[in-house]
Amino acid sequence: MPAHTTTQRISTSGSQPLTLAVPGQRFTAPKTEAQHRRDHLDRLLGVRSQLARLVAERRSHRMDDETDVFSQQLAVEGAIHDLDLTTYEERWPSWVEADVTLEHEPTTLVSWCSLCRAVATRSGVNLLRPEPPDTTHEGATQSWDPSESVAA
Ligand SMILES: [Zn+2]
Repeated sequence: MPAHTTTQRISTSGSQPLTLAVPGQRFTAPKTEAQHRRDHLDRLLGVRSQLARLVAERRSHRMDDETDVFSQQLAVEGAIHDLDLTTYEERWPSWVEADVTLEHEPTTLVSWCSLCRAVATRSGVNLLRPEPPDTTHEGATQSWDPSESVAA
């Protein structure tokens, strides 16, 4: 059967046009179970990251609720473990390393800590350094390290 015959039959069959997409509108295929699972895993990983940061901040500032937040972090890690053991086992070593680097000495204010930023704001301390020097001018040799901390 020639191809044009099939095309003709489709275009003249009944009153319902055979349209998969409307111009100006996006066609979104329904998510598969694997995509739902992946989205859920991504959300859990994001929550885990936020909780790890909160734990590090509270631990750094010796706050009483550090263990409560850490319990929440462990619960989320347990959910990740149950949902995708491979991801959990791949990421756990890097979580431990990264979490330690988020902590800081209680006598030092750092810009990445929300509690330090709150203390700095209340105390009128500027944790942010000025803009890096313009290195396009001749003779500009000053180095710039935005990760440096500011002593309290
Ligand atoms: Zn801090």
